[in-house]
Amino acid sequence: MREKLVIIGNGMAPGRVLDELFDNGVDRYDITIFNAEARVNYDRIMLSPVLSGEKRFEDIIIHDDAWYAAHGITLYKGKPVMAIHRASKTVTAIDGSSVPYDKLLIATGSRPIIPPMPGHDLVGVVSYRDLDDVDAMLAAARRGGRAVVIGGGLLGLEAAAGLKERGMQVTVLHLAATLMERQLDSAAGHLLAQALRQRGIEVVTEANTRAVLGDSHVQAVELHDGRRFDADLVVFAIGIRPNTSLAAAADLDVARGIVVGDDLRTSDADIFAVGECVEHRGQCYGLVAPLYEMARVVASELAGNKAAYAGSQVSTKLKVTGIDVYSAGDFADGEGREEIVLRDAARHTYKRLTLADNRIVGVVLFGDTRDGAWFYQQMREARDVSDTRDTLIFGQHYAGGAALDPTAAVAALPDDAEICGCNGVCKGKIVKAIAGQGLKTLNDVRAHTKASSSCGSCTGLVEQLLKSQLGAAYSVDAVPAMCGCTRLGHDQVRRLILAKELKSIPDVMQSLEWTTSCGCAKCRPALNYYLLAAWPGEYQDDAQSRYINERAHANIQKDGTFSVVPRMWGGMTTPAELRAIADVAERFAIPAVKVTGGQRIDLLGVRKQDLPAVWAELNAAGMVSGHAYGKALRTVKTCVGSDWCRFGTQDSTGLGIRLEKYLWGAWTPHKVKLAVSGCPRNCAEATCKDFGVICVDSGYELHFAGAAGMHLKATEILCNVATEDEVVEYCAATLQLYREQGHYLERMYTWAARVGVATVRDTIVTRADLRAALVARFDKAQHYARHDPWAQRAHGRENGEFRLMARVARPRVSA
Ligand SMILES: Cc1cc2nc3c(=O)[nH]c(=O)nc-3n(C[C@H](O)[C@H](O)[C@H](O)COP(=O)(O)OP(=O)(O)OC[C@H]3O[C@@H](n4cnc5c(N)ncnc54)[C@H](O)[C@@H]3O)c2cc1C
Ligand code: SF4
Ligand code: SF4
Repeated sequence: MREKLVIIGNGMAPGRVLDELFDNGVDRYDITIFNAEARVNYDRIMLSPVLSGEKRFEDIIIHDDAWYAAHGITLYKGKPVMAIHRASKTVTAIDGSSVPYDKLLIATGSRPIIPPMPGHDLVGVVSYRDLDDVDAMLAAARRGGRAVVIGGGLLGLEAAAGLKERGMQVTVLHLAATLMERQLDSAAGHLLAQALRQRGIEVVTEANTRAVLGDSHVQAVELHDGRRFDADLVVFAIGIRPNTSLAAAADLDVARGIVVGDDLRTSDADIFAVGECVEHRGQCYGLVAPLYEMARVVASELAGNKAAYAGSQVSTKLKVTGIDVYSAGDFADGEGREEIVLRDAARHTYKRLTLADNRIVGVVLFGDTRDGAWFYQQMREARDVSDTRDTLIFGQHYAGGAALDPTAAVAALPDDAEICGCNGVCKGKIVKAIAGQGLKTLNDVRAHTKASSSCGSCTGLVEQLLKSQLGAAYSVDAVPAMCGCTRLGHDQVRRLILAKELKSIPDVMQSLEWTTSCGCAKCRPALNYYLLAAWPGEYQDDAQSRYINERAHANIQKDGTFSVVPRMWGGMTTPAELRAIADVAERFAIPAVKVTGGQRIDLLGVRKQDLPAVWAELNAAGMVSGHAYGKALRTVKTCVGSDWCRFGTQDSTGLGIRLEKYLWGAWTPHKVKLAVSGCPRNCAEATCKDFGVICVDSGYELHFAGAAGMHLKATEILCNVATEDEVVEYCAATLQLYREQGHYLERMYTWAARVGVATVRDTIVTRADLRAALVARFDKAQHYARHDPWAQRAHGRENGEFRLMARVARPRVSA
């Protein structure tokens, strides 16, 4: 019979205990987890990137619902445990339900401290601990205004930077004379304050808060010396306290935290405790690395093996993009202590090593933190540094006086050298995973060991490890950058445009730290499209960021003239339209008139300066641009269908016209072509289009992701639907999904292959809610897009583009 393991709390520590258990094939428990938070297990240390918009919540989930299901774990979300009954070996949850245990694991984490000062309970006062706090801060940031963060430690500064990114005016009030005084010395604290001020964050030190002021909502914060700071939001980040109330009520030994021995057992041998709620050898921890070391021991004990935890040394890194700070150990001055300091004022770098007995005992790095892990390793090993002391401060590359090959340096590290501080992963584990599981890429290592999956500062080290293990077989799998102006890939840029609410090209370039002043021919058109797609109606299209064809709303041909294609809805035309086209061709001496493959008429050889007049005349006859030049909806090809054809079952022409009138004007990552055939004979060739419809007896067969250009690609079947309305709905949803996920210049079939045809199908066909939301977003965008660019430009707008430049006589040159 399997034993019952009950876990109280579902934070980072028990998540790791379970990973360790399953990794070691332990399968002796029926596991039940109670979590007060109404969500799965996530990477709490990545809340700051969620706050600042660099990540979404989905990106920081450690174990999703499917993981719990796959391991047969019963997870109660939003259901705190209220009592532990040791005599009956049961726990009781808030709804009165009771669950028995053989082994109990308490992992209740910490509570943020909010001192009972006047006004601490006003609306607008929040702490910084979980996703609800982040959501509250984001809601406040959307309203704008001022935020006061009380506490200039790790968390407070991350909150301040995140709120600033979100557009609030931010003040940090800190009690001590310098920021992060427990982790940094005063020089580094000073540099940190300077860097924050340069980012527009007000930093006030020696600020002793007396009260939060306001009637029902916060209005200001008052200091003991009478100074006041206006506030619409107040964030308390002044510290945490182990969450011990349950354990204390159950009469377990509790001091500052729940007291545990080296085996992580509490004063009751069947009850373990792990994580921030624990006190071990008089020490409580507030960072993940120690919790992961504890988790290994708990897992071992739960598996029936003996293990011991001997305490941890910790290092700290600030996760504020662009500000690099690292600290580890104890760097206070003291008897017998020596220090090595390197300052480079121009580069804003500061490094300090504290030595005792020729061993590193403390490290503080500001501005250049690359050697943090290397110093930390030497500190943990208590390595004698007498031989390397002269060049020690210059870091690993110059250890011993000569530049060191970084791969050789990583190869030389011992197996227990910590590589990833966030996730507590050592070199040995990564090497074992690379060899044992045939890992080839950084993503592989992330997936199997979690190394480099949080703050990413160890990515370089992991890559060096891969290189040292695989040699030439190592393939870098970093997401390819959009272009040379940025390190970010298309998806990252699109996500950040939304998350950071970036609404212009200069905004994107500034916020996402473009390395060029104005971008290049690759990124500008892409950004223009991404902004158009993200902010319909709000974003001002930037003509200068479009290719010449889109700027001129006509196709440039090899002799420098243009070709003009008016829209013919569903391939239909009228004598009046044909007459107008003929008139225009004659009046402007257009040399060629051709029927295109997409059932339209192409006027070839139009001079650029004639374009506005040609458009105006075609407009006067009721015709609009066919977007034959655009990364946009182009044609909807049709057959004659049931109106004329003996085989047609539906009105394919009418449906084609309806689709084109609904979809036209939509900008897309690349060109988009549709077709509607009136029966499976498929005369409109719908099975090589981006979206194709084939009328069948039972209704309509929908296809997508085909192409007949440079690459031939038959469509994929999307689904069958019964009505014309559904055709229009499914088509709009598919187009919008492509609009939202496609990389600029990526055809629909390439996009579908990248994200997965089945995923697209699942989103559009099985998820009615997602489909409806996509259609709603498409409708919103179309409200602004369905305007004829010819009409908008024929009379004035951007007219300069089409004015003939002066003719200059060529000077005679005598021989
Ligand atoms: C914003 C932020 C940034 C951070 N950044 C870093 C960093 O950069 N580096 C670093 O090392 N560490 C960082 N930390 C600290 C790190 O996240 C914590 O050390 C770690 O999450 C603690 O893990 P835990 O499992 O002990 O507790 P938690 O992850 O806090 O989980 C405890 C869980 O128990 C639940 N719970 C409490 N009581 C009950 C009950 N009675 N019944 C059921 N459930 C209950 C809580 O709801 C919570 O979900 C950060 C923390 C925060 C908040
Ligand atoms: S596809 Fe069918 S309905 Fe359309 S023209 Fe061809 S045979 Fe006729
Ligand atoms: S198929 Fe090639 S040559 Fe022909 S019109 Fe298109 S781009 Fe030009």
